[in-house]
Amino acid sequence: MTTVAPARPVLRAGCDMHAMVFRGPGLRFEHIAVPDVALHQGEVLVSVELATVCGSDLHTVDGARHADVPLVLGHEQVGRVVALGPGKAPRTVDGRPLTVGARVVWGVAVDCGRCRTCRLGYPQKCASLRKYGHERMRRGWELSGGFASHVQLLARTPVVIVPDDLPATVLAPASCATATVMAALAAASAVRPLEGAIVAVSGAGMLGLTAIAAARSRGATVVAADPDPGRRADALAFGATAVCDGSAEGWRSALRGVRHGYAVALELSGSPRAVETLLPLGDVGAALILVGSAFPAGTVPLDPERIVRGLTTVRGVHNYAPEHLLEAVRFLEGADHGAFAGLVGSVHPLDAVDVALEAARTHASPRTGLSPA
Ligand SMILES: [Zn+2]
Ligand SMILES: [Zn+2]
Repeated sequence: MTTVAPARPVLRAGCDMHAMVFRGPGLRFEHIAVPDVALHQGEVLVSVELATVCGSDLHTVDGARHADVPLVLGHEQVGRVVALGPGKAPRTVDGRPLTVGARVVWGVAVDCGRCRTCRLGYPQKCASLRKYGHERMRRGWELSGGFASHVQLLARTPVVIVPDDLPATVLAPASCATATVMAALAAASAVRPLEGAIVAVSGAGMLGLTAIAAARSRGATVVAADPDPGRRADALAFGATAVCDGSAEGWRSALRGVRHGYAVALELSGSPRAVETLLPLGDVGAALILVGSAFPAGTVPLDPERIVRGLTTVRGVHNYAPEHLLEAVRFLEGADHGAFAGLVGSVHPLDAVDVALEAARTHASPRTGLSPA
């Protein structure tokens, strides 16, 4: 029999815990104070050092994506452990016990570990999945997103300790953009080894640039597409060998000299046209990994004979498993820190979240920062 230690309230009033609450599209965020937090066994309180605005935060704010409100947005951030719940300290993804003072990133989702989908090996699709920055605020879990001074991490949250000397701007996107790219590359390399492969990357925003650098670091040659010329320039800077605008002619010209077509394509833009364009451009046995189509955007015509004769694998990747967060941090540790830090444009005070979202909306940089300090 296991005994559950009672929750204990920590950091009572005076410790200034607060969050910016999203109340619905078109409404201003509301600043709320959270006077105390009761941590249960396995839970962790983290002070947020820096959060970054993900594209899905923007979709929610702009009403393109439904969300139950009130809600504390934000699921890309880095912070420091300030308190642990009672009982045994929770362990990180790689088995290290968490201690107060550890600098950490944490996964966007918490699974139950017991339901059918968890047992099938898809914890990211758990039947009772809880996601930071995605759920209606409730009493006892007010600090549930990164647009806050602190976040209350639930038991079973995947946590990874990160080095003190890595810039927060490099680390904050680990829990969404970088880990998702790691999951996409894992899905691809289960079909085709990346070493020596031609990898096509569709979309050169935060995920695309990360994917280019990560595929390069695994020995691939990368061809990338984005309709935006500025992003194409970024793609070249992050290691793409050739770039194009994403049209069929563009891809054909960018892949000129590649005799058999791509071995792996990562579709990160979510454009149905991009999916349709990429499908016939693969080598025999190619893997087309769909990541961007996480919102309704229409359907595409499909030639099943092409898939059969091409021995093509089409695979969807949504969210990621805890090990991908660890891989994300390892990748960022070894990456070009200056280049990745440069992907976060302006950094705004937490209270100016409306201004930060406006800056994010211009897409001047792949990410915009929010700092509670
Ligand atoms: Zn995200
Ligand atoms: Zn589950």
